Amino acid sequence: MASDEKLKKIISHSKEYGFVFPSSEIYDGLSASYDYGPYGVELKNNIKTYWWNAMVKMHENIVGLDASIFMHPTTWKASGHVDAFNDPLIDNKDSKKRYRADVLIEEFVAKIEGKINKEVAKAKKKFGDDFKEAEFRATHPNVLRRTKQIEAINARFKKAMDDNDLADVKAQIEELGIADPESGSKNWTDVRQFNLMFKTELGAVSGDAGIIYLRPETAQGIFVNFLNVQKAARMKIPFGIAQIGKAFRNEIIARQFIFRMREFEQMEMQFFIPPGTQSKWYHYWKEERIKWHKALGLGEANYRFHDHLKLAHYADSACDIEFDFPMGFKELEGIHSRTDFDLTSHEEHSGKKLQYYDPHEERSYVPYVIETSIGLDRMFLAVLSAAYEEELLEDGSKRTVLKIPHFLAPVKVAVLPLVKKDELAAISQKLVNDLKFEFTTRYDEKDAIGRRYRRQDAIGTAYCVTVDFETLEDGCVTIRERDSMQQDRVPVEKVADIVREQISFRKVFSDMEATPLPEEV
Ligand code: ATP
Repeated sequence: MASDEKLKKIISHSKEYGFVFPSSEIYDGLSASYDYGPYGVELKNNIKTYWWNAMVKMHENIVGLDASIFMHPTTWKASGHVDAFNDPLIDNKDSKKRYRADVLIEEFVAKIEGKINKEVAKAKKKFGDDFKEAEFRATHPNVLRRTKQIEAINARFKKAMDDNDLADVKAQIEELGIADPESGSKNWTDVRQFNLMFKTELGAVSGDAGIIYLRPETAQGIFVNFLNVQKAARMKIPFGIAQIGKAFRNEIIARQFIFRMREFEQMEMQFFIPPGTQSKWYHYWKEERIKWHKALGLGEANYRFHDHLKLAHYADSACDIEFDFPMGFKELEGIHSRTDFDLTSHEEHSGKKLQYYDPHEERSYVPYVIETSIGLDRMFLAVLSAAYEEELLEDGSKRTVLKIPHFLAPVKVAVLPLVKKDELAAISQKLVNDLKFEFTTRYDEKDAIGRRYRRQDAIGTAYCVTVDFETLEDGCVTIRERDSMQQDRVPVEKVADIVREQISFRKVFSDMEATPLPEEV
C-alpha cells in the first residue's frame, strides 16, 4: 500500500471506529487538534501504563510526578525557551505556504539517502550472499560522492544554525534548488526565527507582568521539583523522575495527523547522575529504551537511531529513536544528555540551591541529567500504523484488522451470544460481569456472528468468545484469537485464565533482557 494511501486509510479508520476524531468537527475542526474517541482513549491509557510500568514500577530508583501545566514564567527564561525555543521559518512567495527551513533541508538529504539505499539494494540483489555492504558503501564511487554531498550539506547547515546565520540557510536552500514541495516554486522569503511557545495571561493581571506560557515540554516541572522529590522520596543518585502530561507548541506546520500537533502529550523521564558519568548513562538509556520499543513486537526493522546534528542549547549528546511511520522514518522518541544546564540555570534564576549531597563523595554537586522523552500521540500512531492490515481471507472475503499487541488492545474480550436468545444472553452477560473486573470487555448480540467478528477485528479486540446452544449442555465456549482467527473450545471458567496469560505485562517485562548498569555505579 502506498504510504499516502495508508495514512489516509488510518485516518478514516480511526474516525469511523472511534479512535481519533478531528477536534470541534461540527465547526469544521481546528487544525492539528484531535480528540481521542472511546477506543482511542483505551489504547492511549494502555500505552501510558506500558510506559509507566516500564519506567516507574520496573526501576526501583525511578519515581513519578504530576506537575502543573502553568509554571512561573521565569522557568522558561531559565530553561532557554524564551530566547531559543525557535524554529527557522521560511515562506514561499508564490504558494504562500510556510515551511520549516531545517525540515526542507532534512527532506532534501533524505532524498539523497534514498538514492544511496537504492544503489545498495541493487548491488545486494546482484551479489547475493557474497555482498559486503560496509565495503560497498566505503568504496563505490556514486555512494561515496553522495555521502560526501550529505556531509557537506549537514556541516554547512549546522554551522549556519550555530552562528544564527539565517541568510546562509536561505542561500543553502536556493543553491540546492529546493522547491516548495506542493507548488514546485523556488521563490522563497528570508528565513526568520519563530518562537514556539503559546502565551496567555494570568488572572486579571494584564500586560507583560501577567504573561505566562503553556509548557512546551513537561521536563521543567521535573527540574524545579528535583529537590522536593529527592528529599521527600529519600532518593539517592542515580535516580529518575517520570511524568506523563500535556505539552503545547505553536508548530509552524502541523500536518500528518496526530504526528505533529499543537497540543500533545509527552512521557518524559529525567535521570539524575553524577557529573562525568553522562556518556555511560546515555548509552544505558539508549539501550533500555530501544528494548522497550522492540518488546512491543511491532517489527524490529521499524526502528532506527538518528544522532542529532544540531544539539539543543542544553545537550552534549542527543539522538532520536525513529519509527517507520506511513510517511517514512521519523522521530518517535528523543534521548538527550542534558548536562547540568537546567538545574544550574534554575539555581541562577531562582537564587535557590538545587544540589545533591553525595554521602559517598562527601560533597554537594549539581547532578547531570539524561532525559528520555517520547510523544504519546506519536506512539499511538506508531502502534496503529504497524497494526493496520487489510487481509484477503481464504473464502475470498476481506477483513480490516488492527493487530494491536494484545496487552495494548483497547478491548480485550468481546462476548458474543451466537444468536439473540435469552438463555444465551444470560450466560454471556454472566461472563461479561465476571471478566469486566479485570479486562475491558464488550457484549455484542446484534447482526450475524461473521459481521460481529469483523467489527471486533476493526477495533483490534484481542479475543472473541462465542456462547452457543452447546454451551448450555457442556459449559464450554468458543474462544477466537484475533490475528490467527484460530478458534478453540474451552470451559467457560477457563476464559479469564487464557486472556490473563496472553495480555500479561509480566510476560512482556520478564522476557525483556536487563540492560547492564554502567560499571562504576
Ligand atoms: P520534532 O523534531 O519532530 O519537532 P522535537 O525534537 O522538537 O520533535 P522533542 O522536543 O525531543 O521533539 O520532544 C520529545 C518528543 O515529544 C518527540 O520525540 C515527539 O515524540 C514528541 N513531540 C514533539 N513535538 C510534538 C508535536 N508537535 N506533536 C506530537 N508529538 C510531539
